[in-house]
Order: sequence, then structure tokens, then C-alpha cells
Amino acid sequence: MVRVRFAPSPTGYLHVGGVRTALFNWLFARRMGGKFILRIEDTDLERSSKEFEVLILESLKWCGLDWDEGPDIGGDFGPYRQSERKETGIYQNYAQKLVEAKKAYFAVHDPEDSKKVIKKAFEWPQEYFKKGYDITIKFKIEEGETRFNDLLKGKMTFKNDVFDDIVIIKSNGFPTYNFAVVVDDHLMKITHVIRGEDHLSNTPKQIMIYQAFEWNPPEFMHIPLILGKDRSPLSKRHGGTSVNYFREQGYLNKALMNYLALLGWSVEEEIFDYKEKVETFTLNSISNKSVIFDYQKLEWINGKHLRNIDTIELYSIFYDWLKTFKKEEIEVIRELDINKSYALKVLKICREKVNTLAQLLEMIKPFLVDEYEYEGKYIEKFKSDGQAAKVLEESIKIFEKARELDNTDEIRKLLENVSNNVEVKRKRAFQIVRGALLGKLITPGLFESIQVLGKSRTLQRLKRTLEIGRNWK
Ligand code: GLU
Repeated sequence: MVRVRFAPSPTGYLHVGGVRTALFNWLFARRMGGKFILRIEDTDLERSSKEFEVLILESLKWCGLDWDEGPDIGGDFGPYRQSERKETGIYQNYAQKLVEAKKAYFAVHDPEDSKKVIKKAFEWPQEYFKKGYDITIKFKIEEGETRFNDLLKGKMTFKNDVFDDIVIIKSNGFPTYNFAVVVDDHLMKITHVIRGEDHLSNTPKQIMIYQAFEWNPPEFMHIPLILGKDRSPLSKRHGGTSVNYFREQGYLNKALMNYLALLGWSVEEEIFDYKEKVETFTLNSISNKSVIFDYQKLEWINGKHLRNIDTIELYSIFYDWLKTFKKEEIEVIRELDINKSYALKVLKICREKVNTLAQLLEMIKPFLVDEYEYEGKYIEKFKSDGQAAKVLEESIKIFEKARELDNTDEIRKLLENVSNNVEVKRKRAFQIVRGALLGKLITPGLFESIQVLGKSRTLQRLKRTLEIGRNWK
């Protein structure tokens, strides 16, 4: 049975490159009816933190990447943690076995220069220990070559003499990454290690450890890293890189995952839900070409998903997002709560104009908030246009006489009458009315906006602007 794992170190936020690695592992497990395992590699005490672990788990859940095994935490699976596994003594015991087989040794380090080993021994060097020397366990690199077949890169050969003996247990008793990963991948019966290319040079070291134990190594596949525009690995220099960042900016989980899936996996469509694509996933369809992260394309894909889902679903996603990241938008949240059917209509027309939830917020806010602000551009336009107040007065007159403003054709005719009566060009009149209603010049279509606002809100807003506009002169 296929068993794969994602093994993040909790030393930072979950990077989109990590999510893509997790996604390919997850897809492979699901496609093959196998298991996807999550293992937190937290043996580097200085760099790991519980806060990052919590964020990583939360991000993975948000991405929809569920794992299949782990310690029982009240009916659910927690992740495996190397720090907890360490407490059972497994890494120490396996390291001890290598020492007994003379494939590893105790190394006593020079207190002046910790890199320097002053004594190597196959017996525990108690006399040095008593004197307080740092003692590690080091794995002996044998002469020769180490080979393996990478599922993406083909045959790989490394000369062993490029490596120094590897510390496998640190002086504080914790295992190092290269050792813990082999012990765990073996004990967890991992069949395929699919990870970023940055680990390629670790693989021969790990294979040597497998060989020392006479264990069969898993298959390896190293996927190209995600690069920024300048072709260096995607990092903060290029912009936001964490799942949290994109979430906060108002990207939908489906859209982010859709975009990450496209980075290296050749799929026929461009817009899809990755959970519906499991059946088409094969390791062969992963490319060995480097991929560049394109923020604009991601935004475009997000816009597509934002418009594809039901308005009801969008409403609840948007609401949760506000509650999580925009708590200060009290009025918007309240309006969404108490005026749901109006809010749904607003969302429906506003989402046509935006790509992210943050942009959506800006677009819907003036619809929901009665005390909306006027942007500088509109104020300037209003001030410099001698007929602006007249346009608003005429609109009020005409709209007051009209029946309900619920038909966009009728609304268009009424507004055309306004422009004819005041004798200003249509576009000019429409922009004056648009800004009067919503405070800005870029909004959803004017006729739809009026239809959604409805007659009484429209009149109220025209009057408000007329009133406030007097002070702009
Ligand atoms: N903890 C390692 C990392 O975060 C995992 C590498 C691996 O998949 O073996 O880079």
C-alpha cells in the first residue's frame, strides 16, 4: 500500500511551496487508496515553536489536506511529533545499534572548537562525559558511491567522499534531521518520499543510513522548487509566501490549491477543484521544469472561483473571513447579520468586479454602510462640475415620481431623462449619480447598483450627497 508523508518543521509559517509538496503527496495517497501521514519534525529545539506548529496545522486544515493516522486526540488524529517519539528512546536505540555495528561512533568534541573531534569511541566515553565534554553520535561515511533512482530526475550518483561523517544524535540527546527522517520513514513504512529539490543532497546521506541498517529505502521524488520572477527560490523578497498571508488577503482555499496544483502538475483545465481531480493524478504527470510563482495569475484564478461558487457560499466564506481578519469592520459585519437578503444581492453584483475578498470588502462597504465615505476624485469632480447639484436634484425629482426602482431598463431610461433635462452628457450625469450613491467612481454597473439599493435607499443617498456636497464648494 502506498504510504506517503508530509513532514514540516515548525520553524516558520507554512510556505506555499510546502503546501504544494503536501498536495502532491495527498493526491498520490488518495489516488492510490493509500495513506497520507503528517509528521512534525520538531527536534531542532532552538528553531521550532509550538505557535508555528499550531499555524501549520490550521493552514493544512484550511487547505483541505486531511491526514489519515496519528496519535488519538479524542476521536481525531493528531500529527506524529518527533519530539514525542524521542521520549520513547527510539532514535537513541537505533543510533546505539549503529554504534554496536561499528557504523557509528561516539564523538567527543573539543570544548574550544566544537567542530573538532578529540576522541572517537565505540564505548560510551564516561570519563569525558563526567568532565562535561559534548558528546555526539556520528555516522561513519564509507568510501565509494551512493546511487539512487529519482522518480523525476532519473539515476543519481554521489561520491561518498564529498560528505563528512554525519552527526546523528546531538549532544543534547536529540536526533538530527537526516537520522530521525530515516528512522521514522522506515518505522512508518513510507513507500514514497516526495519532497522539494532542496533535499536532494540529503538523500544520499539518508540512503547510506538505510544501507547501514540493511533497510530498503523508499522511492524518492524531488520536485523543483517554486521560484520568484528572478528565478531564485520564492521567498519574502518576492512578496507574501505563507498560506496565512494569502488567507488574510482574501484568497479562497480552493483557488490557492487550484493554482498550486498547476505549478508542476499538467492538468488539462485551468480552473478546477483539486478534490475532483484525484482520479487523474499520477506521478508521471509531475514536471521536472522549474516553476515561477505568478501572483497575478493566482489573483485571476481566485476571481474565477469567487464568481463560480453560490452566492450563499460566498456569503458564509466572506463572513467568516471578516470575523477572522477584519474584526474592526463592525458595521459591515452587523449589516451582513441583520440584512442578509440585501447583502446577498450586493455580493452578487460586487463579486463581478473583484478578485479577492479584500477587494470585495471595499466594493460592498458603501452599499452596506449608510455613512459611506467619498473618495477625493469624486469630490473634485463634483466641485468642478457646475451642474452636479442640478443632476442630483433632477434625479431626486425623477426617482421620487417613479414606481419601485426594480428594473434596470427603466432605471436607465430615467437616468437618460435626467441627463436630457439638465442638458449634460450621459456619462457625466451617470458618474455624478454613481459617486453620489456610493462615494466612488468605480462600482458595479450603475443601473444594477440602483436596483439593488432600491428606491428609498437611493433617494436617501442622493439627498445626503446633495447636502454634504454644498460644503465642498
Ligand atoms: N522537515 C523537513 C523539512 O521541513 C522535511 C523534509 C523531508 O520531507 O524529508 O524540510
